[in-house]
Amino acid sequence: MTLRPYNFSAGPATLPESVLHTAAADMLDWHGCGMGVMEMSHRGKEFIAIYEQAEATVRELLAVPAHFRILFMQGGGLGENAIVPMNLSRGGLVDVVVTGSWSQKSLKEAQRYADAACAASNEASGHTTLPAVASWQLRRDAAYVHICSNETIHGVEFQTLPDLKALGCEAPLVVDASSHILSRSIDWDRVGLVFAGAQKNIGPAGVTLVFVRDDLIGHALPICPSAFDYKNVAVNGSMYNTPPTYGIYIAGLVFEWIREQGGVAEMERRAIEKSTLLYRYLDDNGGFYVNRIASDARSRMNVPFFLADESLNEAFLAGAKAQGLLQLKGHKSVGGMRASIYNAMPLAGVQALVNYMQDFAHRHG
Ligand SMILES: *Cc1c(COP(=O)(O)O)cnc(C)c1O
Repeated sequence: MTLRPYNFSAGPATLPESVLHTAAADMLDWHGCGMGVMEMSHRGKEFIAIYEQAEATVRELLAVPAHFRILFMQGGGLGENAIVPMNLSRGGLVDVVVTGSWSQKSLKEAQRYADAACAASNEASGHTTLPAVASWQLRRDAAYVHICSNETIHGVEFQTLPDLKALGCEAPLVVDASSHILSRSIDWDRVGLVFAGAQKNIGPAGVTLVFVRDDLIGHALPICPSAFDYKNVAVNGSMYNTPPTYGIYIAGLVFEWIREQGGVAEMERRAIEKSTLLYRYLDDNGGFYVNRIASDARSRMNVPFFLADESLNEAFLAGAKAQGLLQLKGHKSVGGMRASIYNAMPLAGVQALVNYMQDFAHRHG
């Protein structure tokens, strides 16, 4: 293994180095078939084997029950913001819990297809808290309730999925898990649909995973494009149209890597270890750096922070880059810094970041 810089990008994001080596070795000739994966028919036996293996592995990793279908789609997280209401809303009511930029976008997009309303919001706190589940204003006849379980930009994460049935709500829960999928288990009893763009914690941009309960398939609005009708995608094993074949192949390698490392439980253990290391330092550095997220809402994946003296931002980023710590600049809507520490980020990368932050604070404090 070479010594690569540590890449803290929020997405597209760092991948396990061993996966990149495998992909490089397979580039011209996958398993002796004479073709690279990008050059194969999606209907040939080679690619079907890659696809089936990827699907079976992710099903095993997340313990996905048999009554959920796994779809490999295109369109990304923002695509699903339209595809979900076109498939699930039946033109009726949609309740969205707004906890940051991504759920805000989901609400706006759903309003184009359904009577979508904000059921709760953390906007008053500047998206630094999670609204108490008991305070959510859920409408009795809602077709579904949408949450973003990890807000990539604001760094707010649900530590457990809400139990809507306990609130007397029968509507299925739709979860945008794009930026923390496979870093923790999913309580399938509590959800109807989970979607995740691949480019944060799964693989290359261009693949979107959708886990959808059987009974929610087959109700698309007439305006729904055929290629985005979950029924067409499900019936055709994600091959109604050409799927993003190369991205599915890389995702499959990442799934194998997670299994070899010890599965989702091990990813979660590491995520707790890495995020605890970083938050401890942010809470205990004498105020040179601050993180403003409520402690029970802090994301294990995306850690926004600020330098108390923002005039040092450019020096901080330049120094980090020189140390091989890349892409730490915060999202433009929030400012400051953000360290995204997904599954593929080793503990050593987070330790190197904390060491650098300590050193920088000593030099400039
Ligand atoms: C990145 C992201 C998206 C958007 O994904 P695109 O592939 O750019 O459409 C949506 N939701 C969350 C939580 C994300 O992190």
